[in-house]
Formats: sequence, structure tokens, C-alpha cells
Amino acid sequence: MDKITNMLQAFNAFRKNIRSKIVRQEDFKEETIKIWQANFFADILVFLGPLSVVLFIPSFIMCIHDGLNILAIFDSIAFVVVQYIFFSKTLSLKTRKTILLVDLYLIGVALLYFLGWSGPGLVYLLGFSAFSTLILSSRTGYIALSMNALMFVIFATLSHFQLVEDKMLSGFIPAAIITVGLNFIILNLVLVISISSLIKGLQTKIKTEQEVQQKLEIEMEGHKQAMIRAEESDRLKTIFMANMSHEIRTPMNGILGFAQLLREPHVEEEKRELFLKIIDESGHRMLNLINDIIDISQIESGQVQVVIKEVNVNDLFDSLLSAFTPEARREEIHLSLRKTLPHSHAIIRTDGEKIYAILVNLIKNAIKYSKSDVIELGYEKFDNLIKFFVKDSGIGIPMEKQLAIFDRFVKVDYSSTKEGTGLGLAICKGHVELLEGEIWLESQIKKGTTFYFTIPLK
Ligand code: ADP
Repeated sequence: MDKITNMLQAFNAFRKNIRSKIVRQEDFKEETIKIWQANFFADILVFLGPLSVVLFIPSFIMCIHDGLNILAIFDSIAFVVVQYIFFSKTLSLKTRKTILLVDLYLIGVALLYFLGWSGPGLVYLLGFSAFSTLILSSRTGYIALSMNALMFVIFATLSHFQLVEDKMLSGFIPAAIITVGLNFIILNLVLVISISSLIKGLQTKIKTEQEVQQKLEIEMEGHKQAMIRAEESDRLKTIFMANMSHEIRTPMNGILGFAQLLREPHVEEEKRELFLKIIDESGHRMLNLINDIIDISQIESGQVQVVIKEVNVNDLFDSLLSAFTPEARREEIHLSLRKTLPHSHAIIRTDGEKIYAILVNLIKNAIKYSKSDVIELGYEKFDNLIKFFVKDSGIGIPMEKQLAIFDRFVKVDYSSTKEGTGLGLAICKGHVELLEGEIWLESQIKKGTTFYFTIPLK
């Protein structure tokens, strides 16, 4: 038993070795059925190589003995060819296949010619068409079938006119030959059709499996990405919560602490004013934070309505300018407005309040974060969209943060205490998307940032 197992193992190793020499993996990319066909061909050679030696010697002796010298030469040539395609290291897979098929065909024809209808010629020809379909393609199978049919017709005609070897004519009865011929061709056809449909079925199955596999991979990738996003969102929420508690506590402490101080008797007028100012600022800071949280939750829960009205963009920018000029002046920033249309042409139909809110956020950020001397703002109107921009020449946003900056809670510097919650740009993006537009930025460290957003005009 062990010996048989060892022999089988040795044979399998030999088979693998031959396969790896004949079938080079670089010949194939994804067509697995082709790999299967190549391996099948290699297996045929594994058997045919050594077996042809066993077959050749007795048949050669028999041919010489019977005086069939030409057949002996054919036999030898066929044998040498099989050995050549078995041992050659340079032949390509396709050439090996073609040579083997031609060899098989020529032996079939020679056997038919020299040994007649009762010899193994027809079996070889049948094998020729079956192998052509199996190792090459259905098309080659049908070509082989036609070649067989033609050869049969030629030999039958030659036999009829007694133009062939005597051997071939022995037992030649026209009716019997026609029956053999028809059976041969029909059997041949059935073989080619069944092998073709088997291969086609396999191909379809493999293709479907590959598609399923691909879909699965895409889904897996989607799940992986979703998990990464969920983890990232979780991480950001934790940071947000830490930030939030600080954001809430600081103004609350301000309000409570300074309200307490105001209660003290005999507080000087100057100090009272200062305390009231701090309470006022802290209150506003709280209010902003609450407003941001309400805004983002409304956007995310789909509660925000779009209200389309006629809006004069020049008016909108004028009111932005007057709202921000005092703050900009305090920070020694010059606000430069670029209006590209005359007043009477600057009317568009859109949700003016949302656009105003987006611009307020962008201008606030430019004043708050950029530390730039000038902030330019304006718009450009095209046929079917309007593009707004807010440009500063300040500190810029690092490349690695630019993609994520519109996500909730993302800030460039999380350790910074005086700044916001990281919700402003997420709210802007939410509003832009509600209006079916796009928002993006261009930024270079120490050179400045420009935020753009477009709104389609309907
Ligand atoms: P916040 O509500 O905290 O202001 P935003 O979402 O508006 O958050 O902005 C996110 C981060 O983007 C800010 O923390 C800031 O670091 C950075 N940022 C936004 N605008 C600018 C700008 N014009 N220049 C430099 N950094 C900016």
C-alpha cells in the first residue's frame, strides 16, 4: 500500500514538474478556463511522452515485418515529434498544442491510407477533433470536424475509383462505407458539440463565480471602509465631547464667576463694565456653540428646508461687509469685496439665507484663523452656476487635513483652546449640499486659503 502511495506521489511530482515547464503562469491573467485547458494538455503530454515509446517500438517492428515501410517512417516521424514537444524547453504552449494536433491528424490520415477502413485511422481522426475542441477552442473543433469529413469524402471517392492501396480497398463495400462515414461524422459532431458546451458551461460558471467573488470583495471593502469611518467618527466624537465640555465649561464659568463678582458690594463702575462685557461674550460663545449643534443636527436629520427666493448677490455681500467691517477693523484686516455684476444683473433665484450663513462661517474663519492682512470675497456668475469665494493670505491648512476638514469635529489644532468646535465647515458643507452645490478649498501653508463653493442656477 505504501509503495503505491509513494509511486502515486512520485508520479504527481513528475506531473507537476512537467506542467510547470509547459504551462507558464505569465501566459494567463484571469481566464481560468484557459489555465484548465493548458493543464489538461500538459497532462496529455505527461502520459503521451513516455507511452509513445511503449507504443512506437512494437508498431515500428510490425510495420517493417508487414512491409509497410512508409508507414514505419510516418510512425517514426510522429514519435520524434511527440518527444520533441515533450522535451523542448523553448516551444510556446500554443505551438506545442498545434504541433500535437497536426501530428495526430497526419497519423490518422496515414493509418487510414495504409491500413484501410478497418485500421485505427478513423479513431485517430476522431481523437483529433475531440482534442482540438478540448485544448484549443470550439472553433478549432469545428474546423477539425470539417477536415475529417473532407478526408472521409476524399478517401471514399478514391476508394470508389480504386485509386488507393489494396489494403484500403479490402472489404470496400460502398453502402457500408457510407454508413461508417455518416456514423463517423455524426459521432464526431456530437463529440465536438458536447465538449464545446461543456467548456462553455464551465466558462460561464467560472465567470459568474468571478463576478460573485468581485462583488464580495467590493462589499467587504465597503464594510471595511464603513468600519474605519465608524471608528474615526467615534474617535472624533470622543475628541468632540472632551472639547465640548471645555467649550461649555469656559463660558459657563465666565458667566457664573463674573455674575458672582457683580454681586459684591461697591464694585467700581469700570470693573462692572468689564464683568458685564465678559458675561456678554461668554453668553454669545455659549449661544454660538448651541446654534452650531442645533444646525448640524437639523442638517443631519434632514429637517432643514430650502427656501428659494430672488436674491441680489450684491446686496448680500454689502450686508456681509457691513456686518464684518467692525470686527475686521479690530483685527486690522482689510475686507476686499469683488462684485462682478452690476446691481441690476446680480439677481439669482436661490436660498439666500443659506448662502449668507455659509459666507458668514467662511469669513468668520478667515478672520479667526488665518491671521491674514487682507481677506478677499466675491462671486463669479456662469451660465448655469454661481461660484463664491473667500480668500485669505494667512497660515493655510496642512495638506493632510484638507480632505477631512469638512467632516464634523475636525480641526487643524485640537489642542487650541480659544477656537471653535470644528462644526462650522461641516455645517457649510451640509448647506451647500442641500442647495445641490459643491464646496472645496485650495490652501498652501503660510500662503493662505481660498474656500470656494458653487450653487447651480435653475
Ligand atoms: P470651527 O467651528 O471650530 O471654527 P470649522 O469647521 O469652521 O471649525 O473649521 C475647522 C478648522 O479648520 C478650524 O479649527 C481651523 O483650524 C481650520 N480653518 C478653517 N478656516 C481656516 C482658514 N481660513 N485658515 C486656516 N485654518 C482654517
